[in-house]
Amino acid sequence: MASDVPAPCRDEATSPVSSQRQAFCGLAGIVWLHRKMQDAFFLVVGSRTCAHMLQSAAGVMIFASPRFATAILEERDLAGLADVHVELDRLVERLLERRPDIATLFLVGSCPSEVLKLDLGKAAERLTKAHPGRLRVLAYSGSGLETSFTQGEDTCLEAMVGDLPSRPAGEPGLLVVGTLADVVEDQFSRLFEALGMGPVHFFPPRLSSQLPPLGSGTQVLLAQPFLGRTARALEARGARVLEAPYPIGIEGTRLWLGVAARAWGVAEGRLAEILERPVARAEQALAHYAPALAGKRIAFFPDSQLEIPIARFLQRECGMELLEVGVPYLDRRLMAAEVALLPEGTQLLEGADVDQQLERVRAERPDLTVCGLGLANPLEAEGLATKWSIELVFSPIQGFEQAADLAELFARPLIRRERLKV
Ligand code: SF4
Repeated sequence: MASDVPAPCRDEATSPVSSQRQAFCGLAGIVWLHRKMQDAFFLVVGSRTCAHMLQSAAGVMIFASPRFATAILEERDLAGLADVHVELDRLVERLLERRPDIATLFLVGSCPSEVLKLDLGKAAERLTKAHPGRLRVLAYSGSGLETSFTQGEDTCLEAMVGDLPSRPAGEPGLLVVGTLADVVEDQFSRLFEALGMGPVHFFPPRLSSQLPPLGSGTQVLLAQPFLGRTARALEARGARVLEAPYPIGIEGTRLWLGVAARAWGVAEGRLAEILERPVARAEQALAHYAPALAGKRIAFFPDSQLEIPIARFLQRECGMELLEVGVPYLDRRLMAAEVALLPEGTQLLEGADVDQQLERVRAERPDLTVCGLGLANPLEAEGLATKWSIELVFSPIQGFEQAADLAELFARPLIRRERLKV
């Protein structure tokens, strides 16, 4: 991995702790992945629990024509009385008859399919062969035994890497990796174009049938911090992963674009000139919310893997005090540029023990606690203001234009509390 961000990593601040996960499993990634890839379908091979989890995470999708479903494993499947593969083939045939628009079908593994040791990779190969030229079938795991929350996107993208078409050796290209809202993708496309950089592709693409090319001249710019497996798969195919902070907040976005621009040979003067106006606009908008956050104390429970870049933004650009920052796991390589920007002595906890963390939060009583849905209600009942981390994954938060919106997400509960005070 290449680095253009010269700063020391303060990873000695971390202390890995093993504890029960309190986050959603990787199936949750389907919610944003199916919105991004308009011609893909996600078929979870799982249980009723998986189906319920997906429906509640996806909320309003019950009214749409969804592009995900759950093939429910019944008791006779679990007892080995039925040939699950035969049933799966039949189900896929029926699905394709009804939905001829599907270009890529993802078979998504779950805890039950993993316990049953169902080989979904083999099933994907078989189904792809059964529909030559019509359909690509890929398998990945969203099981709660293997993945947490955002890791479902990592395993999905990793499964797609092998199918990316090859670019001639050495031919330059920039690949932005990680799901971004279309509006954010368009903003970044305009900035790359203004900087004279291209061709630029985004992965995952809006259409799974239009996969971006990949080769030894491809520079990879990660837009999300939870894509370690995907990064390694891209490197295995010869691409070079650039090391940068993530495009969260004004500073993160500026540094992220700067790393890519320098790797592309864009002159510093040109970079400063192009970024001047969007940065000024973003600073003006952010100034509206930063005062509500300045001096306030915040704690993060491990959940989405976005904790470090968001903590960095809230501390450096909004003046918040970081009590502790929990992350589900610390990918030291992908987080090096981010950890280096945290203030000295930050309590950075990997896989923090949730019970102990709850005790600390109750004792410290931060102004705001970022946590999963399961912890938010009890903490609110105890009079602590919370922010659901899932909201951060479902909202467009990357880029200059979104920096103020991101600050507003944190300022809103604090402002509401102020107003409710008598
Ligand atoms: S994959 Fe596992 S953790 Fe996720 S909903 Fe299904 S049973 Fe629960």
